[in-house]
Amino acid sequence: MFSSKIKGSFLLVISVILLLAGNRATAAEIVNITSIQHVYMDEEFIGSVTDEKEIEKVVSEKVSKAESDYPEYTFDEEAQITLVQENVFNAEIDEKKTMEELEDQFTVRATAYEINIGNQVVSYVPSKKDAKEVLRKITLLYMDEEELAEYESNQEAGVLEQPGSLKEKESKILSIEYTMPITWKKTTVKPDKLMTVNEVISLIKKGKKEEVTYEATEEDDLEMVADRYDMKLEQLIKLNPGLEEDYRIGEGQKVQVTETVPYVDVLVEREVLKQTKIPFEREVIKDKNLLKGESFLEQEGREGVQASTYKVAETNGKKTSETIVKKEMTQHKQKEIIRKGTKVIPSEGSGTFAWPADGGYISSKQGQRWGKLHKGIDIARPTSRTIKAADHGIVEFAGSSGGYGNKVTINHKNGYKTNYAHLESIGIEAGQKIEKGMKIGSMGSTGNSTGIHLHFEVYKNGVLANPLDYISQ
Ligand SMILES: [Zn+2]
Repeated sequence: MFSSKIKGSFLLVISVILLLAGNRATAAEIVNITSIQHVYMDEEFIGSVTDEKEIEKVVSEKVSKAESDYPEYTFDEEAQITLVQENVFNAEIDEKKTMEELEDQFTVRATAYEINIGNQVVSYVPSKKDAKEVLRKITLLYMDEEELAEYESNQEAGVLEQPGSLKEKESKILSIEYTMPITWKKTTVKPDKLMTVNEVISLIKKGKKEEVTYEATEEDDLEMVADRYDMKLEQLIKLNPGLEEDYRIGEGQKVQVTETVPYVDVLVEREVLKQTKIPFEREVIKDKNLLKGESFLEQEGREGVQASTYKVAETNGKKTSETIVKKEMTQHKQKEIIRKGTKVIPSEGSGTFAWPADGGYISSKQGQRWGKLHKGIDIARPTSRTIKAADHGIVEFAGSSGGYGNKVTINHKNGYKTNYAHLESIGIEAGQKIEKGMKIGSMGSTGNSTGIHLHFEVYKNGVLANPLDYISQ
């Protein structure tokens, strides 16, 4: 438990004395020789005792108490106490005083790692792991874990990426430097001097007070100077012998002030990719073949993307410089094209009818047929099966209608209505506004029909009319 390097050699010396004494002294005289222990604490003599067990008892009590007060630390009392044995004939020592001194002065010390920034001791932590964590957390004040991990793995692998190689990620760390070396060494301290990693970090975050010289401006008074450095007026006066509360300082006068400065500056260089979106243009093409009110997207618009890579230098998280490294368009913009109809359909018919089919001939006229009235004309053998509206109007009916099969009725809003029957398919809906000549369906043979043809009827003011009075082949 105690250092005994000197003890051994003393024993040797003592044996020699005993041998010499044995020749001339009696056994009773030898009994008077007392073995005592000189107690040194941190190499300083504090007194002597006859029984080293008393020392051990005090020390081990103090260690036990420390261990129960601070279960997370390890204690190292060996370095502090050294016992040196001596055999004396008349022991005149004040053991009580020695024990009091020991009780009073001996403090158990914990194993500690002293953290130094530059040549300044900042704090003590219980383990090397904690010391390393302090350094890591200082660094993490200015970046996130992911960035640091990536930087460290790049460093380890010796990866030197080309500047401007950033793709999807926003930023990458190029270098981390500290303006002061951050180091640690093993030592022992009183346990109340130990700090947790987080306590050390908040100490470092606060920074340290440093005395600097301030040169006053014309407008300054003492209070303003104190305010500027977050000091109390009394503190400022205390720091500057000769100043008093109502002293007027003049321009250029030098005043000592305390300023909070960081323990260390962390210099980080990053590459940052910024993407700027460039809006696309919109073009509207007017289309007279398209009905007014109708429009469609001919080409989808797309934003352009410009990627700019910067090298950004930061000191303690604050940007100090930014230079552009690379600039390129990663996506070219594309304009949006909208086609917009301008065509206006007259709200009523023109009064003249167009041929309702694509070619063809009149296969049957209006009149009596098979004992009943054939109300319209039949048009057969067309060039194509397109059925067209004979004039502008509104679709009054579009659907299946008994013997007519698929039928369309258009109200031309000028007294006339036209019917189109036996359609294979209908391409418009009731209520729809129709332009003269517009396709309304395909010729077919639905309903009472013996072959593909169009049955076409005309009504004037509700009275059946002869289509041939209005249209001709
Ligand atoms: Zn017919």
